Amino acid sequence: MSTAAPRQFKWNGMRVPYIAPWTGEIREQPSLVLSDLKRGGGIAYADEHRLYDRKNGILWIRMGAVRGVGTPMLAGVHSFRQRQAMDHQLCQVCGCTTYGSKDGRHLYLLAERAGEPITEGERTASPPIHEACAVEALRDCPRLRMGAVAARVERPDPWGVAGMLHDPVTLKPRPSEQRGGLTFVPYASLKLLWTVAHLDVVSLHGCTSVSLDELLSLTA
Ligand SMILES: [Zn+2]
Repeated sequence: MSTAAPRQFKWNGMRVPYIAPWTGEIREQPSLVLSDLKRGGGIAYADEHRLYDRKNGILWIRMGAVRGVGTPMLAGVHSFRQRQAMDHQLCQVCGCTTYGSKDGRHLYLLAERAGEPITEGERTASPPIHEACAVEALRDCPRLRMGAVAARVERPDPWGVAGMLHDPVTLKPRPSEQRGGLTFVPYASLKLLWTVAHLDVVSLHGCTSVSLDELLSLTA
């Protein structure tokens, strides 16, 4: 993978996060069919391309990869850049590596859930973030402004995906009540057969809470 810093885009004076999708990247989703049992069963795309549509056997949503085309969708997440950021520990704002911190840990900044800190083993689809980028996100992201929690994390472990479940009989989507209808599905689950993955999910281990005051003072 290239170590060159990705291009930074601005929109209305704010930096567009690396993982934000652009309208030019949205694709029509293909129709689903039942997969051949010899191929493991479950759902498949009618016109599936096994090289591009699956990773480790898991079916992924289709998206284009043309950052900067159209309008940024600041509340959304681009599936492949999010996955890339999770796989390689890239900052969700600038897209550069978060390896190389003084203590070897990665900072995670999550939207707050009822004032609870980030807990050991917590699962998240949010990639890591640099301190300076976190301060910027706290200023610019309306969801984080409502409340956020941060932790330094020793080890983010692969856990599963966040995806749309489908009914095994009708093949219709079965949205959950949360997270835009997505369900967190662990890698060991047979539900993966009926899932179109949207986001990569890790579990966070070796977590030390960071107060937002501390974060803001570090980059002041
Ligand atoms: Zn960054």
